[in-house]
Amino acid sequence: QINQNIINFGAGPAKLPPPVLLQAQQELLSYSGFGISVLEMSHRSPEFTQIINKAEHLLRELLNIPDNYKVMFLQGGASGQFSGIALNLMGLKEDNCADYIVTGTWSAKAAKEAEKYGKVNIVHPKMDSYTKIPEPSSWNLNPAASYVYYCCNETVHGVEYNFMPETNGVTLVSDMSSNFLSRPVDVSKFGLIYAGAQKNVGCAGVTVVIVRDDLIGHAQKECPIILDYKVQAEMNSLYNTPPCFSIYIMCLVLEWIKKSGGAAAMEALNKRKSDLVYDVIDSSNGFYVCPVDEACRSRMNIPFRVGKKEGDDALEKEFLNGASKRGMISLKGHRSVGGIRASLYNAVTLQDTEALAKYMKEFLKEHQ
Ligand code: PLP
Repeated sequence: QINQNIINFGAGPAKLPPPVLLQAQQELLSYSGFGISVLEMSHRSPEFTQIINKAEHLLRELLNIPDNYKVMFLQGGASGQFSGIALNLMGLKEDNCADYIVTGTWSAKAAKEAEKYGKVNIVHPKMDSYTKIPEPSSWNLNPAASYVYYCCNETVHGVEYNFMPETNGVTLVSDMSSNFLSRPVDVSKFGLIYAGAQKNVGCAGVTVVIVRDDLIGHAQKECPIILDYKVQAEMNSLYNTPPCFSIYIMCLVLEWIKKSGGAAAMEALNKRKSDLVYDVIDSSNGFYVCPVDEACRSRMNIPFRVGKKEGDDALEKEFLNGASKRGMISLKGHRSVGGIRASLYNAVTLQDTEALAKYMKEFLKEHQ
């Protein structure tokens, strides 16, 4: 039985929809009457072929992915794609360079990794803190760049793009790990979108890569074969043994998203949820402080401090203890920023979020 008394606000691996967990539990020993578990099933069996094809079909339907895009299910985490993207796309143009917009930990890591494989141009001056998106009119984009890279939602810092970067025709690449399928997205505007599954669409082990056909086949010769998009696309992600169980869980989550109304319904829900928490922060008279510019506040990850701008250690500890007593877990901010972080991915319900908002108001009243 699922423990109804726990609310998981973790940043990832994160809460899964209860119907998904229950179905996985029911089918754990015998998948769909087949007599064996997905955990012990050949990745080349007709049953697994059905699972991976269904996952791809659902993704295409939910995101309206055009036919000239390939969908791959890869290993190595989203971090694997920090290298995979550079190794496959840096050589699209002869200058072997790429533009990066660095708005937080994850895009910074991606840019650092890409430097191993080509020239990286950070298109704006280095920021002192990751609390905003530098003004697009100030970006120094290079028309000779093979691609422009950005992270659509910075999970650690809670900075999310509510707009699509304009690149003057240069291929756009986006890390959507922490806001994938939390809202609709026009895939046709991107060269590549990728996302680790363990936040909005499943559990750890699989990373979705959606890439336009013409960007495939340009890998550097040093590219490890399992990261080579041409090899993986041609072999339907089955060059080697894929993370079968993680793909199966993703398939269940995608079915759940479809049943729940798709990306547009997720967006409406996520907006309502995040508004609840931001409203408490904004009406707290500075007791709760979110350092992020209002224009790019994330709907998925809300970092905030308690007591004062730079956070009051004792109050934050007390806040976390009180939350834990109410069954609210994984609210501690990332170790690099401290404070509190509430992650409100698709599987976190409105009721879960209302419980958090209610607790925040009570805590405020007690300590004001
Ligand atoms: N990109 C973003 C936006 C993330 O939030 C994370 C992990 O939290 C990663 C990349 C790295 O993912 P992984 O741990 O799957 O390599």
